[in-house]
Amino acid sequence: MTRPFNFSAGPANLPEEVLQQAAAEMLDWHGSGMSVMEMSHRGKEFVSIYENAEADFRALMVIPPHFKILFMQGGGLAENAIVPLNLSRGNAADFVVTGGWSDKSQKEARKYCDVKIAASNESSGHTSLPPPASWQLRRDASYVHLCTNETIHGVEFQDLPDLKALGSDAPLVIDFSSHVASRPVDWSRVGLAFGGAQKNLGPAGVTLVVVREDLLGHALPACPSAFNYKTVADNQSMYNTPPTYAIYIAGLTFSWLKRQTESGLSGVAAMEQRNRAKAQLLYDAIDSSAFYFNKVDPQCRSRMNVPFFLRDESRNDAFLAGAASHRLLQLKGHKSVGGMRASIYNAMTIQGVQALVAYMQEFERTQS
Ligand code: PMP
Repeated sequence: MTRPFNFSAGPANLPEEVLQQAAAEMLDWHGSGMSVMEMSHRGKEFVSIYENAEADFRALMVIPPHFKILFMQGGGLAENAIVPLNLSRGNAADFVVTGGWSDKSQKEARKYCDVKIAASNESSGHTSLPPPASWQLRRDASYVHLCTNETIHGVEFQDLPDLKALGSDAPLVIDFSSHVASRPVDWSRVGLAFGGAQKNLGPAGVTLVVVREDLLGHALPACPSAFNYKTVADNQSMYNTPPTYAIYIAGLTFSWLKRQTESGLSGVAAMEQRNRAKAQLLYDAIDSSAFYFNKVDPQCRSRMNVPFFLRDESRNDAFLAGAASHRLLQLKGHKSVGGMRASIYNAMTIQGVQALVAYMQEFERTQS
């Protein structure tokens, strides 16, 4: 029996092949007699899993050699503290607020440094993006923070800003939790990127951090050792016991991603093609209907998280119950926004989006 289509914002659906491989290897990984969960993180078996995962992530994301890849814990919310502890030097940091997640980031950073909001889209209800030329960046900022895909509000930067062209020498920090590996990253514009794995890359419990080497070694004295990027980097992410099973599943997902092909493209470029097609199908269905709507400026709509609303909100419960009976799961919108949200990460197939669109059209017909 095929599995239902799962539109959770995260933890989210994983490729079926990944789950099947993990199930097949659960009791005995590659003849070792051990489950991955039972292995020492310093043994040769786990070290090989770790090294493959790191190499595959680097290849997949085309990460240049002068960036370190760290596998950490604490998720995006812990990074909201870990980044200023490591990068701010207690000085200034500029934030572009584009939705709930970047707003949380700037609030947390205030504990550690002098935060300024360089730009905000709050007046639009987080439905558009402030153009980079309007950002008020400070000359002495130690970094500039953006959330490149706002999971709740469904706004996504289609290009990374070139801070140098805006007159800033500060490194750009991006929270790419909810669209990592869904599209390529221009690393020449990035100082540090972080994201939890539980949307596009694996289970909850491991946070990916990609950091330019020159940004290591400047942590505040109060920074916990386990959260000091230099300490983590010097110990190949094994200063403390890493989340071994989550790293293993993320590794299986990286190799699944590397195997994907689409229109002659492979890996992340192939995923980008598919993600474009999936998002377009869903937004077109919403925009062409008088029954549903999406509030986000079409220039910056997320390809990953599609919030949408029924014009008649009294039908929300019936919509969700009908969706569940069509095996379309976890479509309820975030509590701060309401309505519906379909998260269509890498592991969501075009068939899943087609099934959702067919259900939406059927529901609309039966209601009018
Ligand atoms: N940033 C973004 C963009 C997110 O979507 C989330 C989680 N939904 C977080 C940060 C927080 O991540 P975590 O819960 O793993 O700390």
